[in-house]
Amino acid sequence: MKEKIQKYFKERFGTEGTLYASAGRINLIGEHTDYNGGFVFPGAIDKVIMAEIKPNGLKKVRVYSMDIDEYVEFGLNEEDAPTQGWARYVFGICREIQKRGGKVEGFDSVFAGDVPLGAGLSSSAALESCFAFALNDLFNDNSIDKFELARIGQSTEHNYCGVNCGIMDQFASVFGRKGNLMRLDCRSMEYEYFPFNPKDYRLVLVDSRVKHELKDSPYNKRRESCERVARRLGLETLRDATMEMLDGVRGDITAEDYFRAKFVIEEKDRVLAVCDALEAGDYDTVGRKMYETHRGLSKDYEVSCVELDFLNGVAKEMGVTGSRIMGGGFGGCTINLVRNDLHDAFVKEAVSRFEKEYGHEPRIYDVVISDGARRVKE
Ligand code: ADP
Ligand code: MG
Repeated sequence: MKEKIQKYFKERFGTEGTLYASAGRINLIGEHTDYNGGFVFPGAIDKVIMAEIKPNGLKKVRVYSMDIDEYVEFGLNEEDAPTQGWARYVFGICREIQKRGGKVEGFDSVFAGDVPLGAGLSSSAALESCFAFALNDLFNDNSIDKFELARIGQSTEHNYCGVNCGIMDQFASVFGRKGNLMRLDCRSMEYEYFPFNPKDYRLVLVDSRVKHELKDSPYNKRRESCERVARRLGLETLRDATMEMLDGVRGDITAEDYFRAKFVIEEKDRVLAVCDALEAGDYDTVGRKMYETHRGLSKDYEVSCVELDFLNGVAKEMGVTGSRIMGGGFGGCTINLVRNDLHDAFVKEAVSRFEKEYGHEPRIYDVVISDGARRVKE
């Protein structure tokens, strides 16, 4: 990828720039916890967006997307917003840095990536973080702190791409560190690194390639349930709720609200248990917690679908150590913690059985926990 980008940059702009990269991410555990003030547990992966960039002394940005094979030029004022979806991410990053008093001048860029688009690995955060990191380095002497870089990416999604996302994806992409997952406290924004070096295991994503179109905004409904229960308990969020407290009000709330809140409370405890297990190198417990999360997402929070339950079932039958839905649900991937010696057989079985059942093959992504945003060494 690096050579390809460098060759094209040279051809197009007749010079050489600096290379930057940032990564997609996985979330090992901690789902639907962010808006409940809980914990998430992401890590950056070995799939990246890489960009070569050089200031051009002009008042405009000239950028070429190798994967989409499109070239776009835009100015740096609000009215200069490009119409191409991918270019709006780059433009948004420039604008959000400027809005915060940072400096962005004209530059030339060529970029490419291998984070699968729309598969739940957050290719958009990789793209944002790559450019945010680069423009901080090239024009701002790295004076913008890393959390602000993540927020710049998040604001880009909100203000230029119409995606009302949380901070996890950009956080993971900016802060990612090889061999480490990060527990982010979504209430205090404190974070901690935990070693993730499973020598005997691999992380494998199985992408169902289904996305169920949903009526009556199920995500908002989940959120409202959680808020109702928190209010009933006199809490701001479910972060401080316990199962004892929840059981104490069980008679006063609907069964649906009860099970939604139950999942959130248990999920918070599961993240903490997984952190302890990792510190002890106990991957069996990590895996068991992943299955528990899947069950909770499927039965209590009710955000699974037949395809994801099917993939989870195949994993369980084959003795895969851990498996669960990753992401919001209703489609997308399962994330699987698989022993090395079981990897090939599991992948083969999951692909063939899924295809037989649903008529198309799922996609397989092996991922390794790697570094996030960075300057690429020559
Ligand atoms: P994801 O879950 O992967 O983040 P999104 O829909 O949020 O999915 O972001 C995907 C969008 O990000 C693409 O439509 C495109 O605009 C941009 N993007 C991601 N990767 C690339 C790439 N390699 N080249 C160009 N644009 C990309
Ligand atoms: Mg995205």
